[in-house]
Parts: sequence; C-alpha cells; structure tokens
Amino acid sequence: MQLYQNQHLKIYNSLSGKKETFKPINEGHIGMYVCGPTVYSNVHLGNCRTFMSFDMIFRYFKHLGYKVRYVRNITDAGHLVDDADDGEDKIARKARLEQLEPMEVVQRYTVDFHTILQKFNFLPPSIEPTATGHIIEQIEIIKDILEKGFAYEVNGSVYFDVVKFNEDYAYGKLSGRKLEDMISNTRELTAQNEKKSPQDFALWKKAGPEHIMQWPSPWGDGFPGWHLECTAMSTKYLGETFDIHGGGMDLKFPHHECEIAQSEASTGQSPVNYWLHTNMLTMNGKKMAKSTGNNILPGEIFSGENKILSKPFSPSAIRFFMMQAHYTSILDLSNDALLASEKGYHRLMEALDVLDNLETGKSSEFNIEKWKQECYDAMNDDFNTPILIAKMFDAVKHINLIKEGKESISPQDKEALQTILHAFVFDVIGLEGKNEGATGSDKLSGIVELLIQLRKEARENKDFGTSDKIRDQLATMGIQLKDGKDGTAFSIS
Ligand code: AMP
Ligand code: ZN
Repeated sequence: MQLYQNQHLKIYNSLSGKKETFKPINEGHIGMYVCGPTVYSNVHLGNCRTFMSFDMIFRYFKHLGYKVRYVRNITDAGHLVDDADDGEDKIARKARLEQLEPMEVVQRYTVDFHTILQKFNFLPPSIEPTATGHIIEQIEIIKDILEKGFAYEVNGSVYFDVVKFNEDYAYGKLSGRKLEDMISNTRELTAQNEKKSPQDFALWKKAGPEHIMQWPSPWGDGFPGWHLECTAMSTKYLGETFDIHGGGMDLKFPHHECEIAQSEASTGQSPVNYWLHTNMLTMNGKKMAKSTGNNILPGEIFSGENKILSKPFSPSAIRFFMMQAHYTSILDLSNDALLASEKGYHRLMEALDVLDNLETGKSSEFNIEKWKQECYDAMNDDFNTPILIAKMFDAVKHINLIKEGKESISPQDKEALQTILHAFVFDVIGLEGKNEGATGSDKLSGIVELLIQLRKEARENKDFGTSDKIRDQLATMGIQLKDGKDGTAFSIS
C-alpha cells in the first residue's frame, strides 16, 4: 500500500476559506500549477519564500508516493507595469532601459532564478513553460471566450466582459469581493478608455509600432494579457480542471480571480479544486518587494553583504528559517531571526551525526512509532512545518539523552529513527547535510568566526600586530571585518 493511502491530508483551500480533506482527481496522481516569476529582475528572498513553500509541498507529495506533475511557468511577456492593463510590459521596459533584446533580459533573469533555486536545493518542476511559447494556445482561448460572448473586441484589443460573466458566474469568489462593490468603488472610465467597465481586463492588447514584443493575431498585431498565460499553460498541461493552483497571496486578485473567470467562460468548468496561497516575507514589518526597494537578494545573504546582516548565511540555514513558519503566516526577516534559525539548523545536523554513532541497547524509552505518526500528522495538517520541526527537536532531545547514557535505544528503533529523520529533514524540508555544497559556506563562516575570536583575544592582549594581520589577510581574501558595538560582523565578496 502506498504511504499516501494511510495519510489523511488536509489543505487550507483559499476558495472555500476552510481546511478540506485532500482528494486528487485521479487516485495517486496530482496536478499542481504555481505561477512562476516575471523574469525582468533578480528574484528576491520574498519570491524565494513562495517558491520554497511549493517546493516543500511538492516534496511532501512525492514522499507520500504520489505521482506529481508540477508546472511552474516563466512569465516572459504580457506582465504590465500597471495591473489595470496600462503601462509598458515589465520585460520590454527593462530591455529599453538597458538597451537589450527582451529575450536577453528574459535569459539573464531566468538563469539567475535557476541558479538561486539550485543553491536552495529546489527540485525542478516537471514542466516549466513560458508565456511566449504559448501564444497560439492563448489566442485559441480568446477566440473561445469571444465565441461564448464573454469578451469583446475594440480597435484591435480584446477585453474580458466581467459584467456579462458575472450574470452567469461569480466574479470575485476567490478574493471575497462583490462586483457591485468593486464598480461603486472605482472612478469613472475616461473617454479614451476602451473598456466597457473598469473591471474588464485585457485578453489581448493591440501593439503600436514602438512595441518591441508583439505577435500576429486575428485582431491584429499585439500581445496577450498577463492572466491569460496561466490559464493557457495550466489547461494545456494539467487539463480543464486540475488539483492544485498556487501562488503568493498578492496574486489572488486580480490575477487568480481572472484566471478562474477565463477558464469558466471558456470551458464552463471551475479550473482548480484547491487554491493555495502563501503569505508574505516581510522586512522591517513591510512586504518584501522589488518595486519598493524593501528587499534582500539571496546572493546578499550568502555573502553577508547587506547592512542588516552581521554575517553570511548558508542556503540551508535560510531554508530552515523559512520552514520554521507556516506557509500561510507572515514571516519577518531580521539578522537575529536568521542567527537563531542557523543555531537550530546546526543543532539538528549535529544530532543527526550523533544519531549515526549512537550505541544501541536492548530497549527504547522513546516511542518512535508514535513520534513518527505525529510528524506525519503535522504535515497532514496543511503542511505544518513549524510543528514538524518541533517534533524533530523532540527527537533531538532523546538522541542527546541516549548519548549521555540517560536513555537507551534498540537497534531497530535507531534504524527507524534514522530513516524517518532523514526523510523529513532532507527529502521533505529539503535541507542539505554537512557534506553537501550548502555547508561549504557554513564551514567557512565557522573558520572566520574562529579568526574573529582570535583577533579579539589578540587585541585584549594588546597584540595589535597579530590582530591587524588577521584583518588584513582576510581582506586580501575578500573577507571584510566590520567592527560595531555588538561585536565584529563580516561579509564575503
Ligand atoms: P513576481 O515575479 O513578482 O510575479 O513574483 C513571483 C512570486 O513571488 C509570486 O507568487 C508572488 O506572490 C511572490 N512574492 C512576491 N513578493 C513576495 C513576498 N514578499 N513574500 C512572499 N512571496 C512573494
Ligand atoms: Zn499566474
């Protein structure tokens, strides 16, 4: 029997606002779509949090034995600077400002995205489709929606008719909004606006000759609206109705609401059974975002080169930090929080080492079967990784007691504990062990911290020759020491 058949998984569905028992459409198989990045700049740590949450969910499904088709797209066209269908395409704008081909921008930031995700030990999705690779599919959906009467063409652009749609379906059901309220809260359309109602959104936008990203269509040269690509790619690879659709909470409206409307208008069916939304990573209590500059890049964390950091942090320490919060809770990033998580991560890794070398006895005080089920119960309760981590530290406590000779463990229980801890730590949470790439930087950090300590002792002994030598030699290796009132921080360039 597959492991998933023993586990009763509950998932918080944003559409119903409730935790629901998870039941896939096809037994043993899961179709999951997650909105990917718009590749016009480097991914920040907030973006990484959302993708990491879905990486953990993907990993858990796989661990349970499901066959998962995980589709995460790359948005390489159609995402405008302004959500109200105005302004330039984000990628075209960057290309213009940097005098690059749009596809050079796309290539640069797609490579950056993949490099960062690899450092964080992400599993690759099953399919990573691009918006520009699916223009034909998007045009076909527009034709379908037009034919069904839920869209209209104006001057080479096509708009989705939200008011008409709302007569037969419910626009706003995902984000809990009512169309009437939306309309009464919006200012009147200006005379030059082509939309019948301000809530209508573009399926296709006419492109002027100055537009560098455009394609031919039955309505003339133009480009697809942002929401349409996800409908086209999810339907193509997962079907008209599939199991799970995910993204950050900020995508609920208008993006996901519009995806639902497009699908229902074209197929008459609800596209997704479970909508999952991750909460935001914040810094100084504010959402981390590209646009406001309130963000930190993964590269800055790995090198320690950011004024809020006292030192570099390894990808696994960051992953551990992220997993200590539930994916639906806000998580605030600070140097102190990272230091605490790093400590926890090291304690866990040390306990795994201790476990490998534990001497076994005749019996065990620690009830492994019960503990194992509690670990699964945590994950089955809407992927509750903070509870799972607390359970892991219960095991760490027992491991240390056994090491001190205060408890014992049988050989069978030791093996079971090793197997299940390894499965949760490495396969599900996705941490990397000491011997993998991630902790190369951990070891370096440890060595630098040791040198900082020796330098401090040299200064206390007024041995300034040695203390300066340590600082200067480290500097020649690209390691900068920064003395402050709370001690010495460092960065690695
Ligand atoms: P974008 O490239 O801006 O479309 O964002 C890619 C993904 O990152 C989306 O799912 C966003 O919801 C998510 N995201 C953006 N900012 C944050 C943040 N501060 N915390 C968590 N997720 C975020
Ligand atoms: Zn999307």
